Parts: sequence; structure tokens; C-alpha cells
Amino acid sequence: MLGSMHPLRRRSVLRNGVLGIASLGLLKPGTLHAGQQGRKKGAPRKRLAVIGAGASGIASAYFCDSAWQVDLFESRDKIGGHADTVSVTEGDRSYAVDIGAEFFHPNTHPLYWSFLAEIGARTDDPATSKVIEGPASLTIFDAGTGKARFGSDHALDDLPAALRFLTFTGEARKMTEPDAPWETPMGEWLDGLDIDDDYKRDILTPWLSSLTCGDTELVRTQSARAHLSSFAKTFPETIFEPVHTYNSTVGLEGYLRMLLDTCENTNVLTRAAVERLEERSGTWHVRTASGRHGPYDAVVVSAPPPVSKNFFTDLPGLGHIAEYLGAHEYHPTRLVIHRDPHYMPADKGYWSVQNAAADGRHCETSIWIGAYHGTQDLASRPSIFKSWAAHRATDPAEVLAERRFRHPLSTPRSLRAARDMMAHQGERNLYFAGSFTTITDLQESALYSGLKVAESLNPDGARLTSFKQRLADDDLLDTSYDIP
Ligand SMILES: Cc1cc2nc3c(=O)[nH]c(=O)nc-3n(C[C@H](O)[C@H](O)[C@H](O)COP(=O)(O)OP(=O)(O)OC[C@H]3O[C@@H](n4cnc5c(N)ncnc54)[C@H](O)[C@@H]3O)c2cc1C
Repeated sequence: MLGSMHPLRRRSVLRNGVLGIASLGLLKPGTLHAGQQGRKKGAPRKRLAVIGAGASGIASAYFCDSAWQVDLFESRDKIGGHADTVSVTEGDRSYAVDIGAEFFHPNTHPLYWSFLAEIGARTDDPATSKVIEGPASLTIFDAGTGKARFGSDHALDDLPAALRFLTFTGEARKMTEPDAPWETPMGEWLDGLDIDDDYKRDILTPWLSSLTCGDTELVRTQSARAHLSSFAKTFPETIFEPVHTYNSTVGLEGYLRMLLDTCENTNVLTRAAVERLEERSGTWHVRTASGRHGPYDAVVVSAPPPVSKNFFTDLPGLGHIAEYLGAHEYHPTRLVIHRDPHYMPADKGYWSVQNAAADGRHCETSIWIGAYHGTQDLASRPSIFKSWAAHRATDPAEVLAERRFRHPLSTPRSLRAARDMMAHQGERNLYFAGSFTTITDLQESALYSGLKVAESLNPDGARLTSFKQRLADDDLLDTSYDIP
């Protein structure tokens, strides 16, 4: 079982080939994507409703597809959830740009990394692989003057600052170990670090906040382990080793489309916001604006807690689930894709992949998309940026795409609620999948949650068996994102 120490028996298993190529663009609203409506001859009899077509809902559908007739309900007009890819043209080239989740790394995303190989998205041949490697450079600068406070590519110019950063990354890595406490808030953890206060105030706290809420006070309330787990293991142990990060040639949404393209028994309904659930005589119905769907033998809820808590308020005996979901805390943010360099450090020599602009209480990052596209020559790299822009004084000149998100705050309180809720997983044939059910907010943990659902609903499915064999080969079977 994932998250436990049971090795798989070695046997030869069929690996599922990927038939489709990921495509950008919208599904036809309210219509079906993969599979056909109604049951085909020989198709599974059991019916499963999956609510939310983000990474966790799609992973659940993908791994259950062989044994269940799946209806995947999505409120937006496209699939992907926080994996949301837009196409940006620069000169004669188009780039798949992720306005939401974007980066992954084998150390922080071991399951995801393996899974990309499993579905054929990651290969050793750069000509066919849909994974790009890029530098993971970082600059923290003053938003008002544009002056750099710290630049990872300039670390050796200021050795004491580099050593402080090294101390930080070493301590951060320890905090992501399985036995590290998850109830320690970031503020308490930072205060206890043996690093001088100015560095914590001017560099570490703004940067840490820029990775989620952008608020230097609020970030102190987050679980240190939950927050650090999303990136700390990407840092090497010395300042001399280069740091890499990875993203996708087809966008992270593109990977999810690849999964759906291989599903035979999954119907995707877009613009189908679920309003509530109904349970009668052991079966479930799902209510959307267009009517009542069902009956279903089981339901997987992967819509985020601020929405899904409303599914349960009127359901007898499930008030505790509404309460657990109601304990999750979020912070609204806004992301923009643009070409305006005024959110970047004033000195182009300090432009990094990640550029955190500290502005009093707030600090928001701009990702330089061009840093991992194009040649070594800085000037020839595309001027495409992705910026958090909820607290900025002015907007960029030319906004190409924009989206509002809610960042989970992963406080000790919300993690406790998630842990307690997951003790009820599977009761009354009701399952939960999503990063919100795990210790950290990543595509990795969303995938993990979908795998856990499949372990209950389709334990002998060929896809799960094949992938678990790969995980066993990679010594990853005991990977867990459960909250202890
Ligand atoms: C700006 C940003 C950047 C990020 N960067 C990274 C990164 O670089 N790397 C990384 O690994 N992770 C990153 N993350 C985190 C990662 O995106 C999430 O952990 C992951 O996508 C969560 O997947 P999920 O399936 O749990 O939820 P979601 O992706 O939120 O999916 C839930 C789905 O439910 C749908 N839904 C909502 N209400 C309803 C309803 N009533 N009926 C039907 N459907 C509904 C939503 O539209 C959505 O599609 C980032 C997140 C954000 C916001």
C-alpha cells in the first residue's frame, strides 16, 4: 500500500500506453470529453461521481476508469483546476504557460516524477520528453527601488549571506522529514532558527510569504512543515551545486489532458458545478443547475473545502464532515501573465527564475518564464512573466492572462481537520481526494490522494498495479503525504 511498507510482489504487468497528445483550449461547455454517455457493451456497471476535475479528481478518474463508469463534474469551462495552462505567443513561437501550478522536482515530487515517466510524458530523449529542466535561481529585492537584497546567482559576492541561506535550507530540509512536527507554525520555527534577525526579517520572511499568500504576517501562521515541504528538498547541500527545477512543454494541464485522453469510461462534464449531494438507500445523487444525476455507488469529492462543505450541510449524519471542511483557511490571490519588466529587479543581471518583490508587509513573486526558454544569452530570452499581483501598487502594462486563486494556508488547525476527516474516508461510500486531504499543497500530493482513492475503489486495476510496480522499482512505495 502507498504510504506503508508493503512491497509489491514482482510480476509482469502491462504498462498503459498514452494514446492522446495534450492540447490547449477549452472543452465544449457542458459536454462530454472522454468516453460516451450511457453504458457501452462490456463497460463497468458500477457508477462513480468525481466532483472536481483538478489533478486529484482526474487522477482518481484515471485510476478507477477500468472498473467504474465515471462522471467527472467540473464547475469551470475547462479541466485542470489549479493546473491551468494558457498559450502565449512571442515572435514566431508559442509557449504553454502555467498560470497556476508550474514547477516540480524529483525530490519534492517523487510520485509525480515517476508518474510522468509512466504515462510517457517524461523520457530520456529531449526531442520527445514533455519535461523541461531549468535553473531554480532566486532574487529577493526591494519593490520600491528595484534593488536586490539577495540573489542566488550572486551568492558568492556576499559569503555571510550565502552561509545564512545555507543554514536556512539545511534546517528547512530537516523540517520536511517524516518525523518532523507539523503543528509548529512557521513564525515559531523561524524565531527559533540560529540566523540573525535582520536576515530573517528582510530576506527569509518576505520570500517565504511570496510562495503562497504574499503576506509576511499570515505566513507565520502556516504549518512550517507543510510550507517547507513544497520546496525545501530542491536545495542541494552546498552552495556550489546548481539548483534545478522542472516544468512542462505542454503545461501541467496538458499532462492532465493526456490522462483523460486514455480514459474509456469517464465522462467529463464541464460547467457542471455541483450544488449538493443526496443519499438514499445507500446510493448517491449529485445536484447541478441542470438537474439530478445518478444514482452513483460511490462519490469522490475533490472540489475545494470552501465549496464542498456546502454539499454536506443538509445531509443527515454528515455534519461533522461539513465542520472539518469548514476549518480550512485560504487567502485570495491574483496571478497575471504579462510582458512588463517593471515587476523585476532593476539590474537585469539579478533577474532570476523567481523574483520576490518585498514591499512592507507584502512580498509577491514574478516568475521569469523566459529564464527556462531560449538560449544562454539573457537578451534573447522571451520577456514573458508570471506575477502574483494581489498587493501591487500598479498593474503591469500588458496583461495577457489573469486568474484569481485561493491559496490554502495549511495552518495547524486546517491540517488537524484534514487528518480527522480522513479517518472517515470511505464511510457511506464517500471519498475525498485533493491536496487539502494531505500534509502539503502540491500536484504531488493531489496525485497521491487520487492514488489512495484508487487503492480503495480499484485496487487491482491495471494502471494502479503497473504504477505501483514502478514505484516499488524506484523504492517509493512508502511515500506518504498523510497527516500523522
Ligand atoms: C498560483 C498557484 C501556484 C502553484 N504552484 C505550484 C507548483 O509550482 N507546483 C506544484 O506542485 N503545486 C503548485 N500549486 C499547488 C497545486 O496547484 C495544487 O496542490 C493542486 O493543483 C491541487 O489539486 P486538487 O485537485 O487538489 O485541487 P484543484 O486543482 O483546486 O481542483 C479542484 C477542482 O474542483 C473544481 N470545483 C470547484 N467547485 C466545484 C463544484 N461545485 N462542482 C464541480 N467542480 C468544482 C475546481 O474548478 C477545480 O477544477 C500552486 C497553486 C497555486 C494556486
